[in-house]
Parts: sequence; C-alpha cells; structure tokens
Amino acid sequence: MITREQIQELAQFEDQGNSALSFYFQPAAPRNKAHKEEAILTKDLAREALRKLESKGSEGNNKAKNESARADLDRIVRLSHDLRGNGAHAKAIFACSAQGFWREYVLPAQLSATQLLVDRHFHLKPLAHLLGAFPGLGVVLVDRHRARLFDLRLGELTEREGFFHPLSRRGRGDGFAGYDGGHAQRRVADEARQHFKFVADFIKDALEKGMFEHWILGCQETHWSQFAPQLHPEAAQKLLGRFSAEVARVSRDEIRTQAERIFADWQQRRSAETVRETLSQARSNGRGVTGLRRVLRSLEMGEIQILLIGDNYVAQAVECTGCGHLDAHLVSLCPVCGRETREVVDVAEAILPWVIRHNIELFYVKDDPEFDNVGNIAALLRFRSALNNSDKVQPINEGRANSSLGRQPGLVGRYRGAASG
Ligand SMILES: [Zn+2]
Repeated sequence: MITREQIQELAQFEDQGNSALSFYFQPAAPRNKAHKEEAILTKDLAREALRKLESKGSEGNNKAKNESARADLDRIVRLSHDLRGNGAHAKAIFACSAQGFWREYVLPAQLSATQLLVDRHFHLKPLAHLLGAFPGLGVVLVDRHRARLFDLRLGELTEREGFFHPLSRRGRGDGFAGYDGGHAQRRVADEARQHFKFVADFIKDALEKGMFEHWILGCQETHWSQFAPQLHPEAAQKLLGRFSAEVARVSRDEIRTQAERIFADWQQRRSAETVRETLSQARSNGRGVTGLRRVLRSLEMGEIQILLIGDNYVAQAVECTGCGHLDAHLVSLCPVCGRETREVVDVAEAILPWVIRHNIELFYVKDDPEFDNVGNIAALLRFRSALNNSDKVQPINEGRANSSLGRQPGLVGRYRGAASG
C-alpha cells in the first residue's frame, strides 16, 4: 500500500520532457481469459500513449524524450503479462526512465478503469479518489473481556499489535455456585466494567495521539449498552458507526466489508453536508468560494480547508512556467511574475499536487444539480484573508484576516505584486 509520504513524492514529481508515465491497473472480474484480455488492453493503451507522444512532436529535442517514455511503456507491457487477474488488488506504476524513476504500488481493486497516461506530472486523480477524504480509520472490536484494534487504510485491514487485552480473569467461572454465586457475578460485572473503561481510555488516547481520526465499533448489542457509558465524549463524537460482531469469530473480510460500508455512508453524508455548508457560506460571503477563479485564488492563499470537485469536472487553465501560478484566465503571461504560461488541459488534475502537499481534504461530488449550477468546483475555507475579500461587497472580520496574513507573507506578497502589476 501507499503512504502519504509516497503520494507527496509523486505529487512533487515533474518532468519537463513530458514523459512522466502513470499506469493504473484495475483487475477484471475473475472469468476465463480475463488475464489475457488485461494484457492485451495494456498493450493497446501503451500503443495509444506512444502514438500520442509521437504526434505531439517529432523534433529532435522531443525524440530523446520519447525514448524515455517508450522504454517505460515497453517495461509495463512486459510486466502486464505477470499481473494476475484475480480481482484481489489493483496496481499503480509511476515511471520516468529519463530521471531514473520507477515506483510500483499495490492498491485496493476499486479503480474505475485501467489507464495509462504520459504527461509532465503523474496522473493522481485515481489515487485522490481512493484516498478521498480517507482519514486514519480505526476499527475496534470489543466484548466483555477482549478487545482488538484494526487499522483500515486504502482497503487494507491491519491488526494493531499490543492492544489485545485479555483482562486477568482471576476466579472466572470458579467459586461455589450457589454459595459464592452472587459475589462472583458482581465481580465479573465489575471486571467487565473496568475492561470497557480501559478500552474507552485507550480509544481516547489513540485519538489524541492521532493513531486514527475516526473509528468504527464492532460488538454485540448487549455489550454496547455497557460500553457506551464508558466512552469519552470526544471518542463518542468520532465514532462513525457500529456493526454487530463477535470478537472471536468475525472474519477479517467481514470486518473490512462492514467498516467500509459504514465509512462510505458517513463519507457520503459528510460530502452532502459539506456541499450545502460551502454553498451557503459562499452565498453569505463567508467561508465559502465557488467557481474556478476563486477556488484557485483561495488555494494559492492557503485558505482552503475542504475542496469540492464535480466528479466529471474538466476545465482548462494556464500554469506559469516560472512560479507555478495557476490561472483560470488563459493568459500567455503570468500575472504574478510575468513569465510565460503554458496550457493545462485538466485543471482538476493540475491542482491535485497542491491539494496533496497541503493536506487539503477533497471530495468528488456526484450528481448534484445545485453544485453543478455554481460551476462544479467550490471550497470551504478555514479563514478568509482580507485581500481575497477585496472583490466582495461585504468585508469580514479584519482582525482575523490580518492574523492570517501574518501566516502567509510569501503568498500575500505575490498577490500584492499582481495587484500593482
Ligand atoms: Zn509566475
């Protein structure tokens, strides 16, 4: 699986010769000949990519660069014969032999398609899709004397070591029934309560230490009524949902399936809520912006907390070859530094490195007419700086805006330059 640091590395990669190659392999459903078909598909994609490259430019300068992509394409086609079509995992390869770059990652088999692209940057949308607003997710299984903690990330369920907590069961089941029965029962109940408290404390700690941001609970209904009162309020708030499970018997597949379902439901609700919140904030000139121009500006100002992009959103923009400034107006010279710009075919893709670097939460919004009306791109801001507000009727809280300026001197400086130039 891929780590955040590895995604950052990909986000930062750039090849001036446009030979950064991204290959996403989504296995076909298991059936006869699927494997063979996958290899043929990859070959076709490679041929298509090469054709595009060659049509882009046959000047001597580009020829050498094509060689890099050609070498990578050959290697991927060879490799595709070994990719097993068992449906278990998807794969991503990022390559640029011109810079000696080759990375392979196993991904959950949830990609929309097998794809092969060659460009200046790596194609990161499928990764962003998978990560989505993927927080660190903990899955806790608990009963009266056991608890297990799992980590769910990118479809991979990992059991955390050291959390398994079999409480000392001194005297469990012993004692003379009838004679010591009542006492033993009380002691068992007390031990269970202490155990639930221990687990609740552990979850609170884990959340505070950032081991995970949200969690899901698997337990039996009867245990929930005893466990719930022990939960700390913050932990209760971070609980996304629960499913019925027996600690000792539930399979890993079932844990994963249940947790993913609960997470997907939650994420969908949250996405819908964020869209409503953002649009309402944007209407009141508050912490929301809509439309590409304003979103790009807020992005560069470091204001964005959550970015919302229509799932099929495609828009053009230009990118400065000097400072990297993105502009929704297709100007040939950068309004910030004056250098030449180049065309960006898919701005939703071009902003992903920025989004990933700055740890901005991202939602892809599907089938939302209201969102469609505002241009299919919007953002919820953590603050709104004064300069970004200059074209608004209603200025907001000056004090807050000033403090945010203090944090972003470089960016604000750039925009001052832009305003005067
Ligand atoms: Zn520039």
